[in-house]
Amino acid sequence: MQTYDNYINGKWQAPSNHEYVDVINPANEEVVAQVAYSEQKDVDTAVAAAKAAFPAWNKLSKEERKEYMVHLLDVMKKHEQDIADTILKELGASRTFCEKAQAPMSINEMEATLKAYDAYNFTEELDHVTVMKEGFGVVACITPWNYPFNQIQRKITPALLAGNTVVVKPASNTPLSAVLYAEIIEEAGLPKGVFNLVMGSGSGVGDYLASHEDVAVISFTGSTAVGKGLYEKAAPHVKKLVLELGGKSALLALPGSDKQAVVKKAAGTVLNNQGQTCSALTRLLVPTSELNEYKEVILDFYKENAKVGNPEDADTMVGPMVSQDQKETVLEYIEKGRQEGANLLLGGNDIDRPGFYVEPTVFTEVTNDMTIAREEIFGPVLSVLTYETVEEAIEIANDSPYGLSGAVFGPNHDEAVEVAKQLRTGQVFINTASGNPAAPFGGYKESGLGRENGKYGLEDYLEVKAIFKEN
Ligand code: NAP
Ligand code: MG
Repeated sequence: MQTYDNYINGKWQAPSNHEYVDVINPANEEVVAQVAYSEQKDVDTAVAAAKAAFPAWNKLSKEERKEYMVHLLDVMKKHEQDIADTILKELGASRTFCEKAQAPMSINEMEATLKAYDAYNFTEELDHVTVMKEGFGVVACITPWNYPFNQIQRKITPALLAGNTVVVKPASNTPLSAVLYAEIIEEAGLPKGVFNLVMGSGSGVGDYLASHEDVAVISFTGSTAVGKGLYEKAAPHVKKLVLELGGKSALLALPGSDKQAVVKKAAGTVLNNQGQTCSALTRLLVPTSELNEYKEVILDFYKENAKVGNPEDADTMVGPMVSQDQKETVLEYIEKGRQEGANLLLGGNDIDRPGFYVEPTVFTEVTNDMTIAREEIFGPVLSVLTYETVEEAIEIANDSPYGLSGAVFGPNHDEAVEVAKQLRTGQVFINTASGNPAAPFGGYKESGLGRENGKYGLEDYLEVKAIFKEN
């Protein structure tokens, strides 16, 4: 059995207690590796390494830091297949999704951030004032399991480019993507201490890392519940907080929309990655008069596409949930949907096979006060709601504690854009528009604080100083 240590100060280091935990393949429940189960002492060592490395790294010129990071990108590109394979093994997303979405996303987003860095002015001259921007110090990067490699990339690329050094605490379900990241950093030859990896539990080492007095920035992606707790951790030292939290995003289908395109978009986000995507369009809002037609289109789409199976198989779209816990959570939400009176159009059950599988599930006749319309399920579950007027549809879409993503479909593009402007979310997709790796990603309301990617991501990791000169 392969075991993996922490990566601290440019060296692979065993956790001080010599404890390790299993990493499970969710598709067959087999143990695939063991990783360090660290304690607070290991966090202290990693933070000290990052703190020591900060002054020299922060002092490098823009071009010198860029050279390191361009080389890191080249090494990452070389390992694109390893990234996809590692994610498949510990997360259980389909091979197609790992290879076509998860792995390339990191490369494309890193490229886009490097481009934004090139164009970014780190100094500005005002009247007898030089405004300069630089790193904060040590950034604690605490990341989730659903995009286990890219969630790290989204933090460390801008944090390091800005002059900070980092300590990464990855999700316990998916530490192997973080280990691979550290291997790539090592191969790229970043100076020691600039990137450090400590594995262990969120409540044990994650919490301690966030509270550490030598950490200047807490950059967290994960649940809103944990994110709220981090406010308190940030307070005693007035730390900068970057939070990318949950979502319950709506796809608002205006009357007369292309129903096949609507269903393909919404269902795609709850089937790919098994719906474990924070920006998934989990609430589908359709006109009441078109509901019956939508039901037909949904049934056809799922029959044709929603193939559940081993993520290794080329035709699998839906693999297992990441863990037994996540599977149970999803099944509990499905049960609540039933109890609260939603109509189960399809799915709704556990799948009796090894691995943490749940049937792709669609509820219709969902109202926005039901738990399955309000809370993030993080599974292959779609809730279909109806509306009478466009005003009501906008109200329903905005009636959520979250505000991460959204989509508006409609036969008239300009009208759809006008509706998009009224949605209180960080992103809105019009019809079949595709994403852009340079675009800001992040949420309104309880979906977070700050933005990731491109120039917006960079700015979250920059301190600003005004130097007043005598003439
Ligand atoms: P989570 O339980 O909040 O965990 C996220 C990370 O925080 C993990 O590394 C976890 O460690 C750690 N953690 C847990 N408790 C902690 C604590 N008290 N102090 C410090 N760290 C702690 O979330 P998850 O279950 O992994 O991921 C699912 C959630 O993430 C969903 O709500 C989803 O919407 C959100 N998410 C948001 C975005 C976004 O960009 N907005 C992207 C992806 C996911 P352990 O793994 O050891 O518990
Ligand atoms: Mg958790």
